[in-house]
Amino acid sequence: MEGQTVVTPRTATTRWKKIRVRLIHTRDHICHHCGAPLNPDAKRGEPGSIEIDHLIPYAQRPDLAHDPNNLVLSCRPCNLSKGARTLDQPYQPPTHMLPLPTSRAW
Ligand SMILES: [Zn+2]
Repeated sequence: MEGQTVVTPRTATTRWKKIRVRLIHTRDHICHHCGAPLNPDAKRGEPGSIEIDHLIPYAQRPDLAHDPNNLVLSCRPCNLSKGARTLDQPYQPPTHMLPLPTSRAW
């Protein structure tokens, strides 16, 4: 492998692994989006496996990539469908996440 640049995925870093472990230890093992039960022992891709989801996508706020307030536990189907949706439709974070709520005409 020498002479070849190995691209390390964001989620393979030691820092990310620590955050993931801490989240799984401190959060309820249910999907933030659909409430499905999650299995902390399931391997990635197995039924019930836990995915860590960014409420505000990394593409929008890379500075929040490791912020626990921006991270939730998610089942794989929700994480995948959300990822696809955000391609053409920016995710709207919950109002309590916004530093300055913008006024809206309801
Ligand atoms: Zn889900």
